[in-house]
Amino acid sequence: MEPKKNSHGKSVKRKAHKFIFVVGGVMSGVGKGIATSSIGTLLQAKGFSVNLLKVDPYLNVDAGTMNPTEHGEVFVINSGLETDQDMGNYERFLHRDLTADDYITSGMVYQHVIEAERALKYGGKCVEAIPHIRDEIIRRFEHSAKVNKTEVTVVEIGGTVGDYQNIMFLEAARVLKVRYPNDTAFVMVSYMPVPSKLGEMKSKPTQNAIRQLNSYGINADVIIARSEVPMDHKRKEKIAVSCSLPTDHVISAPDIESVFDVPGNFEKDHLSEILTRILHMRKKANEPGLSKWNAFVKSTKESKETVDIAIVGKYFNTGDFVLTDAYVSVLEAIKYSAYKLGKKPVIHTINARDYENEKGETRAGASGATKADFKALEKFDGIIVPGGFGETGIEGKLAVIRYAREHKIPYFGLCYGMQLMVIEFARNVLGLTEANTAEINPKSEALVIDIMPDQKKKLAEGNYGGSMRLGAYPATLKKGSIAREAYSAETITERHRHRYEVNPEFVARISAGGLIFSGTSPDGKLCEIAELPRAENPFFLGTQFHPEFLARPLAPHPLFTEFVKASIKRRGEKKDR
Ligand code: GLN
Repeated sequence: MEPKKNSHGKSVKRKAHKFIFVVGGVMSGVGKGIATSSIGTLLQAKGFSVNLLKVDPYLNVDAGTMNPTEHGEVFVINSGLETDQDMGNYERFLHRDLTADDYITSGMVYQHVIEAERALKYGGKCVEAIPHIRDEIIRRFEHSAKVNKTEVTVVEIGGTVGDYQNIMFLEAARVLKVRYPNDTAFVMVSYMPVPSKLGEMKSKPTQNAIRQLNSYGINADVIIARSEVPMDHKRKEKIAVSCSLPTDHVISAPDIESVFDVPGNFEKDHLSEILTRILHMRKKANEPGLSKWNAFVKSTKESKETVDIAIVGKYFNTGDFVLTDAYVSVLEAIKYSAYKLGKKPVIHTINARDYENEKGETRAGASGATKADFKALEKFDGIIVPGGFGETGIEGKLAVIRYAREHKIPYFGLCYGMQLMVIEFARNVLGLTEANTAEINPKSEALVIDIMPDQKKKLAEGNYGGSMRLGAYPATLKKGSIAREAYSAETITERHRHRYEVNPEFVARISAGGLIFSGTSPDGKLCEIAELPRAENPFFLGTQFHPEFLARPLAPHPLFTEFVKASIKRRGEKKDR
């Protein structure tokens, strides 16, 4: 048989691995991450093994040093890499863990190339963006495919076509297409505005975005056109002609009620069939199909009765807007457990500062001193204090935790929320009024939360990037505890992201006071879970780790489920009163 030739006439070995590059046109924020995740779900349903890879074009080496108010949640994977929140969506839609090879930033690529240059790895050559940066990107794309041993890699290239920042990544993708024309596809997620004064869907921005992409030597194989309303056939034809595509390669992606509907919606326009056709992927004898996913989607729609959960945090406000991006995994985790229990979650975002007065003081019960009345907390069935850093809103959070404990409102503390729960207990139950964390007042006489010794050194050296206690660690659970019961396991593994921890010097005293450390590191040295007995509060539990990172639509997290269960129970009891 004739060896395959590429477009330059060179022989290439037929490469089995498939790449789909997802790029953004027109503007950001139209759901490229969800589109990528959904393509993953659809190809899995066709029986293919898939990995998803996120490219972030910024120069930060990872997402860990960025402010969540601006960039959203920092999502931690098992390896400890601090990544973008899209990686969370990927894991949730694929229902599997991703690896450090599935995340690439410009910072990582440049750091690698520059370090190699300093180590004389380029043999005296002039090191340049082309070919060296581009080739390092290609190496990473192929490496991810290889170590994951998947049949398809879907790569989401961050930013929008026309940005300066992502040009090297687009160039790397273009070269892969030249090398493996039958194994590489481009999907552009674009936007079709319907200006209110015109009342008509306009395709020009999409046409211009394609033209921009063409100027890089790339054409899209598929266009996913996001819009407020479904796109009609006439417009599909118009885009198809101007972008040199078959009409059925233009997918209508109107706004829908929930992101979980996106895979099913894409299938209405046969997206998975089109992609597998473009990529010459042979149909599998056994297709698992979407039945599990569809059953989950159905459960999200069936639940009518509500459960009201408050998240008390600080990263909500950006300018005039309230954003929940910083807590996206927490929100998702609550939803999955509520759906599993047949309830519709209503999530309230509470700014912790509202529970402090101007001076940052709290006056539980004394109305007028704080913006919000503590009695208002009664309307929630459960309260969560999520992860966080620094001083803002701390006293407000502590006052809310105290109210929850004393009024038996189910409480779930995540990382900082667990540390603050320990501080509140030490202050108000043990009478250690000075109790604090070294993060806020290192001079406190009762540092119940202290910096870990290895962390102290890192901070003294100014080493902040990727240096926290990060990623998956095991913990052992105490018999008879709420945690052990919820997990139905003695040993668990959960993801971490913190510098501080419960101070071992105070553990005996706090335990004697009644707070149970029901989860510890296997050597018993680090406290991973704290809880109160059910008689004191039906669910008053905090984790030093971030359970929200492991909650999946098809596998809700046991601790969230236990917390939501307690919240539902409280709701029932409130009604009976
Ligand atoms: N600021 C705390 C620490 O570093 C908690 C971190 C978090 O909530 N992720 O230990």
